[in-house]
Amino acid sequence: MAKQKDRWAIVGGGILGMMLAYRFAQQGKKVVLYEGAEELGGLASAWQLGDITWDKHYHVILMSDLFLRGILDELGLGDEFEWVETKTGFYTDGRMYSMSNTLEFLTFPPLRMIDKLRLGGTIFLASKLTDWKALEKIHVAKWLRRLSGPRTFKKIWLPLLRAKLGESYKETSAAFIWATIQRMYAARRSGLKKEMFGYIKGGYARILSRFGDVLEEMGVEIRLGQRAESVERVEGEIKVRCRQGHEDAFERVVMTMAAPTASTICKGLSGEEIRRLNGLEYLGIVCPSVLLKKPLTPYYVTNITEDWVPFTAVIEMSALVNRHTELNGHTLVYLPKYVTHDDPTLTWTDEKIEETFVNALLRMHPHLTKDDILNFQISRVKNVFALPTLRYSEKLPPMHMSVPGIHIVNSAHIVNSTLNVNETMLLADRAAKEILTKQRV
Ligand SMILES: Cc1cc2nc3c(=O)[nH]c(=O)nc-3n(C[C@H](O)[C@H](O)[C@H](O)COP(=O)(O)OP(=O)(O)OC[C@H]3O[C@@H](n4cnc5c(N)ncnc54)[C@H](O)[C@@H]3O)c2cc1C
Repeated sequence: MAKQKDRWAIVGGGILGMMLAYRFAQQGKKVVLYEGAEELGGLASAWQLGDITWDKHYHVILMSDLFLRGILDELGLGDEFEWVETKTGFYTDGRMYSMSNTLEFLTFPPLRMIDKLRLGGTIFLASKLTDWKALEKIHVAKWLRRLSGPRTFKKIWLPLLRAKLGESYKETSAAFIWATIQRMYAARRSGLKKEMFGYIKGGYARILSRFGDVLEEMGVEIRLGQRAESVERVEGEIKVRCRQGHEDAFERVVMTMAAPTASTICKGLSGEEIRRLNGLEYLGIVCPSVLLKKPLTPYYVTNITEDWVPFTAVIEMSALVNRHTELNGHTLVYLPKYVTHDDPTLTWTDEKIEETFVNALLRMHPHLTKDDILNFQISRVKNVFALPTLRYSEKLPPMHMSVPGIHIVNSAHIVNSTLNVNETMLLADRAAKEILTKQRV
């Protein structure tokens, strides 16, 4: 094994790792990017579903995702956008409602006018608040119940919270809903008239392939299928050892995987660092992709408020993405269920998930039959994002570890926003600047 001065490694080839590699390579570093899977992209990666290739998890780009759009421009993909005005549905009391504009909101039957006013008031207030740290000290359920009233909370907020957080909403702070509403209003803040949803033709498969090519053109060495088992400082160098037995040494290593995984791989951390990394509570997801012969609804998102439905929303990707040019004329829907580590759904067999989820989908959509289902494929991920619990920002692990040359940067470091690619890239940009500055001092 050669002595490897001036070489930097990034472990984890998701969006965060790719963006770090991009910035370091721009500064002339010799970068090696390790990815445990056989392809780049992590949560944003694509897979084959029947005769189509599309994102493993539903991804949409907002017009207000200005940083991400800037990077896509740099990658030469800026002209490949399709922008669409999408609709939102609500499935409640066994019926489907459209909730896509003010008129539909005002005539939404499950809520009385007073409930609607309180709901609108809550959203308006959250869009104007700036002191998110104060909201970290109060439970989201308590805050929303107080502002919107018990009926609106039960009918609207509770199902929405469960959709995104499962039962963990009980431990989540009000900063979570604040960040979600802020993202909804980001377009107006950034001077755009209205929010639009978009995608790049070819989906994230196209973005990741182009990003990977650009990294390689810049000299980044991408090592796919190389899962790091240990990262350790030995005799002034950082050694990365992979499951396959391959070992290499670097001047600096940045790890981008979830905090509890990073804490087991990284050797020599202090007790306090390990406590902080393991102290974060992560939410996971069970996310089937379903390919259908015919459309379900005109809605990109259908929020569900019925307890008997095992998934927490229906994302109809083909209400956004052109079915004919991108999806071989099929309908693509996702049936996500966010789960805690101990949720039994994570250990269900594929057959059990398919049977339970499909039965509920058929009951919601009587015009659909089993014959309409072309493919059903399940993604299970244990650590998707760290739950924003009370006083979350005070619990953050450091990015720059006590072991010189080792950094652990991951989406848990996104504190006052939601998990999305724009924020992930911004985090990588900020972390890269800090790491490069540290190197100079
Ligand atoms: C269901 C869902 C829907 C989403 N929708 C949107 C959306 O609409 N719009 C949006 O902007 N964002 C969306 N996101 C968020 C977006 O996917 C994330 O912000 C982004 O992908 C996070 O990237 P990351 O690199 O931080 O993490 P990850 O993607 O988790 O990357 C970590 C990488 O590290 C690798 N790794 C782990 N351990 C090791 C090891 N030991 N050795 C080597 N490699 C290792 C993993 O294989 C993985 O590739 C969504 C996410 C999900 C799950």
